Amino acid sequence: MVKGRFAPTPSGNMHVGNALCYLLAWLSARSQGGGVVLRFEDTDLMRMRPGAVEQTFSDLLWLGLDWDEGPAPDERGGAYFQSCRTEIYDKYFDELRVRGMVYPCFCSRRDVRLVSAPHESDRAAVYPGSCRDLSPQEVAERMKKRAPAWRLRLGDETVVFRDRIRGALSCEILREYGDFPIRRADGVYCYQFTVALDDALMGVTEVLRSRDLISSSPWQVYVQRLFGFEPPVFVHIPLLLDPDGQRMAKRDFSLSLREVRRHYSAEEVVGALAYLAGLLDEPHPCTAEELLPHYAPEKLPREDIVLPRALFARCGEG
Ligand code: GLU
Repeated sequence: MVKGRFAPTPSGNMHVGNALCYLLAWLSARSQGGGVVLRFEDTDLMRMRPGAVEQTFSDLLWLGLDWDEGPAPDERGGAYFQSCRTEIYDKYFDELRVRGMVYPCFCSRRDVRLVSAPHESDRAAVYPGSCRDLSPQEVAERMKKRAPAWRLRLGDETVVFRDRIRGALSCEILREYGDFPIRRADGVYCYQFTVALDDALMGVTEVLRSRDLISSSPWQVYVQRLFGFEPPVFVHIPLLLDPDGQRMAKRDFSLSLREVRRHYSAEEVVGALAYLAGLLDEPHPCTAEELLPHYAPEKLPREDIVLPRALFARCGEG
């Protein structure tokens, strides 16, 4: 059975771009007779915003997007919050250590960023492998001064994965990306590692997310195959850009769902998003349920979508 997922990071307000992504993830899974998992990606507690979990539950339910597995809307913590899954990540990390597939890395500048999902604009440069071949003595010396981050030692291979919009994609992972950190020096596990494990352990078969995360997919597929898991199929959808053609950010309030909800009904928002995604010819009010017969991955645009100014024009009007 198809299993899709919502994987919000509760670091701010959901914006209409996030809403489009969750709507399409829900439609894709449900239109294939499948289910949806909700999982909060809250490993980096410093970035989390108070109230964002509550707001996410409220926004998803308001949009009419339910989930089959995940926390109940009054739950805070538990198996579907990554911050509560450290013991699971420890177990897989220890296995990699025993297999000699991770090494300590003392060049820490970029590690911090890779704890959260690296959206395209903040993609790290290829790691040159500076700490890959340190001798045991060098490691011991450096360990005395500071705790290391840990990187996965990649094999020189081509990773192939499938995208429902783009077909088969491949990547020479070591050359194009380089060894990547899976655990930060303070012990926090990095996005690529936790997402790959959770998608696999939760039985997710389809990952629909915005195309700016496409560069993360080869890493995640690589991690899943290391442990013998079958990777999911991906659907990397275009970005929804603001009316100025800029990427939306959770810190901008005007196109946040909180603001949109003050001016529009859920049916108006769902209809507008479906229109932007090519599922409706006109933006007319409708429910997510009513869209099910209209959903097909072939209809989704391949180019980024610039939000027409008129569509949510009432937002920000006091
Ligand atoms: N938690 C990530 C975000 O909210 C999404 C990660 C993913 O879909 O893999 O940006």
